[in-house]
Amino acid sequence: MKAAIQVVLCKCCVDLPQVLDLQKLEKLASESGNVVSVITVNSACDGDELAAVVKDAREKEADRAIILACYKKEISPSLLKAYKRAKINEFLVDIVNIRDEAVLPNADSREDAQSKAEGMLSAAIVRSRMLVPLSKSTEEMRTKNVVIIGAGIAGQAAVHAAAKTGAHTIVIEKSGKSLKVPGVLLSRSQVIGAKGYSGNYQLKIKVSEKIEDLDCAAIVIASGGGWTALRGPLAKASKEAMPLYELYLKVRSGQLPKGPVVVVDSPDPAGKTMKAQDYAWGATLETVLDLKKRSPETEIYVVFQEMRAFGMSEMAYKQAAEMGVKFVRYDLAGAPKIDPKEPTRLAVKDFSQGELLNIQFGTLAFAAVPMNESNKVIADALRIPMSADGGVRRGSIQRGPVSTPRPGIFVCGSAMFPKPKDIAMAEGEAAGSMAGEYVRAGVIEYGGSVAQITQEKCSACLTCVRTCPYEAPFIGVASKAEIRTQLCQGCGMCVGICPSKAIDLLHYTDDQISEQTRVLLGGGA
Ligand code: SF4
Ligand code: SF4
Repeated sequence: MKAAIQVVLCKCCVDLPQVLDLQKLEKLASESGNVVSVITVNSACDGDELAAVVKDAREKEADRAIILACYKKEISPSLLKAYKRAKINEFLVDIVNIRDEAVLPNADSREDAQSKAEGMLSAAIVRSRMLVPLSKSTEEMRTKNVVIIGAGIAGQAAVHAAAKTGAHTIVIEKSGKSLKVPGVLLSRSQVIGAKGYSGNYQLKIKVSEKIEDLDCAAIVIASGGGWTALRGPLAKASKEAMPLYELYLKVRSGQLPKGPVVVVDSPDPAGKTMKAQDYAWGATLETVLDLKKRSPETEIYVVFQEMRAFGMSEMAYKQAAEMGVKFVRYDLAGAPKIDPKEPTRLAVKDFSQGELLNIQFGTLAFAAVPMNESNKVIADALRIPMSADGGVRRGSIQRGPVSTPRPGIFVCGSAMFPKPKDIAMAEGEAAGSMAGEYVRAGVIEYGGSVAQITQEKCSACLTCVRTCPYEAPFIGVASKAEIRTQLCQGCGMCVGICPSKAIDLLHYTDDQISEQTRVLLGGGA
């Protein structure tokens, strides 16, 4: 297949034309072999401009395209759909994120930005020439079941939203609570294992003492809660202590805690068993500010070893200090202690002042949140990684804040990390609707840029089988590795680790990567 490439330069973000010489890029593209069209547009996201781009591709008989733009194009399904209508294979459309990778890192040097952009364009052209069309296969979903794990606030919102799409909903709830929900409620039930792949999962469920199998097409993890089991010497010494999340809810609902209020980063300040997660500081500042506004006279202390108040939280920190919240920093030698005989007195050495403080408190809360153990069981069963904070890991916060790395599995509410009710409900609705819509499609698509094994090279060492996080490789009847394409997510881990170099990731073969690298390092296109 002879490559006929269309190059599209998108100006949509104002940074691009301000920093780059687009005419030079146009010239470079038009003088490169196999490029049949170069077109510059104001915004490739705009429907009219997109139509013009695709018309141009058809007229110039392009069979592939390179779009130099920003990350938004990567997530724009309309772009790929438009090319599909023009009969251009979706795997032959490459988006080069010139904004984030060339312009923004070199915003203070137009020369460097231009040189990087030119390198990226040349490398993309070389890559485009080497690509071959790929296809996707489809498989019908065997069921319209959407399983919702957890019948808390997020789970209930999810089940109603999924039912509205026409999905058959099944709620799996650990406790014995009885609820009126659309579909079926399996109480005293737990997911203990899962087989299959997105669109066609088989769950193993423990219902009371019986083990049952359940087919489903999509899953919503709404297991929430359980973030309350505090461990560590401070929690042991003060029986009344609570996790920050509880204090947050109390303050928000108008129940003012008994003062003085002390928030310590961890119930195990000198140990390593529980560290404050990053999000905890934002929540700490929000809680103390809320409390100070409701009750200006309440004395509040925030005791911490290292505070990571990101972004705009810095402003909240400043505001809280101005409103009289006392921030006490400690180091390991002066870590806070509570004598069990005096469970309402916290002794801590203020690192900045060198002074030993004895704080008599009415309420003690900890910013560190213990891991929700039941989330781990569910995540392990569904083969979804956990976040460093101990929650179920979601996909991209921008592209899919309630999705997970596995298509067809969604997550919402406190299954990720503790959240207030309104946010948990909103996420539950979003996750339920997405699961319902996923199931409504009725078919799953798979294939495309996935791993492929050259069996003659395979020594059946099992390394790929053990490495793949999605359980896609297996040893087949010929005693050689094979890939279950439906499960492969194209992550490339098996490719890098196979000692026999028997695996390729389609569209990211060694030859394609080497050629691109050669050009990026200054070799000619
Ligand atoms: S890692 Fe490579 S050699 Fe080992 S089983 Fe997998 S494909 Fe075969
Ligand atoms: S590319 Fe990733 S998901 Fe696919 S088989 Fe290899 S390790 Fe598994």
